[in-house]
Amino acid sequence: MAFLNDNYLKLKAGYLFPEIARRVNAFCEANPVGKARLIRCGIGDVTEPLPPAVIQAMHKALDEQASHNTFRGYGPEQGYSFLRQAIAQNDYRARGIAIADDEIFVSDGSKCDCGNILDILGHQNRTGIPDPVYPVYVDTNVMAGHTGAADDAGVYAELCYLPGNAENGFVPHPPASEKLDLAYLCFPNNPTGAVATHEQLKCWVDYALANDTLLLFDAAYEAYIQNPALPRSIYEIPGAQRCAIEFRSFSKNGGFTGVRCAFTVVPKELTARAADGNRVPLHGLWVRRTSTKFNGTSYIVQRGAEAIYSDEGRAQVKALVKHYMGNATLLREAATTIGLRVFGGENAPYIWARTPQDLGSWDFFDKMLHEANVVVTPGSGFGKAGEGYFRLSSFNSSENAIEVARRLKALV
Ligand code: PLP
Repeated sequence: MAFLNDNYLKLKAGYLFPEIARRVNAFCEANPVGKARLIRCGIGDVTEPLPPAVIQAMHKALDEQASHNTFRGYGPEQGYSFLRQAIAQNDYRARGIAIADDEIFVSDGSKCDCGNILDILGHQNRTGIPDPVYPVYVDTNVMAGHTGAADDAGVYAELCYLPGNAENGFVPHPPASEKLDLAYLCFPNNPTGAVATHEQLKCWVDYALANDTLLLFDAAYEAYIQNPALPRSIYEIPGAQRCAIEFRSFSKNGGFTGVRCAFTVVPKELTARAADGNRVPLHGLWVRRTSTKFNGTSYIVQRGAEAIYSDEGRAQVKALVKHYMGNATLLREAATTIGLRVFGGENAPYIWARTPQDLGSWDFFDKMLHEANVVVTPGSGFGKAGEGYFRLSSFNSSENAIEVARRLKALV
């Protein structure tokens, strides 16, 4: 009989979204009228179609696949040079950040990248995880055997939780007295919508350089930053190329959640420690890992991603972001009007708010479902520190956002 990876048995059952679905289904069965009015405001998936420039580029690329002269089979595992160049040039070099084309690794999603990166990192690492958090960071560490067991509250032994709260504006500080080997950061943040300032990121980079910490910086929502003073990349902070990997995605700027394309930046200066004490560059290991376990993102998709950097593509992405941020403004304003303590929603598509009357996250979820017929995401689903909060997503049509804002204001 085959042995299994026992680490999977440590996982807490995928609790958040199945439990939301269970409660929503029970509500719909019992309330046909409520079911007809139901608006989902809890989902992190985009709602608007792909930008026309992307569609056009993908059609053209598909046509190329129809001819012997232009057909392409397996591509380079790390991505086609046309896309690596477009990314490095537009997202980094044009902003004064010296990233080389071959430091960009194109993939089929940031979710995979955030999990796959653990393939080249040791199980001994002391890992810092923000709380609340995008659950993928925690679960992939559990699967890789980098944690102990979970307690009843879902807190895993051997992880170092970095609490976000109203006091620190949901930007956790580096630990005062603990030396982390690895730390996850995500800005703009899912679920809290918080964005770290230059000073706050500099604290993390200084900590990382002083303590030999590798930062895993998830910038999937970078396109939502409206304030030009806020950093869009960890590499805006001097020294970060010696201590940080950055993850970016085309899911939330170009609407690629169903198309699948993202990238990871692994600077060549970045090293980690081998068991014999030698420092080894991570870049070569990541090349090796992608070459062995991945056969590249589809050519058609990479041409679509490239089109995001064209003049038309940029204008169309800007319009998409404007649409979602318009929703965010409405939702933020409605939650503020009814007296809630509100975070996020200004440089991020998520609004994070304290529940009224100190209701528990799930109690407020039920209240919204039954009284407003709106599905929100309970903050406790993102970690212990999320208890007493809820998340509203601005990924919706304008009509739905207007209606959710109206119903929120009518909530008693
Ligand atoms: N990182 C964060 C913080 C996310 O919220 C998400 C998706 O919701 C992802 C990564 C996943 O991105 P992708 O669609 O590229 O897998």
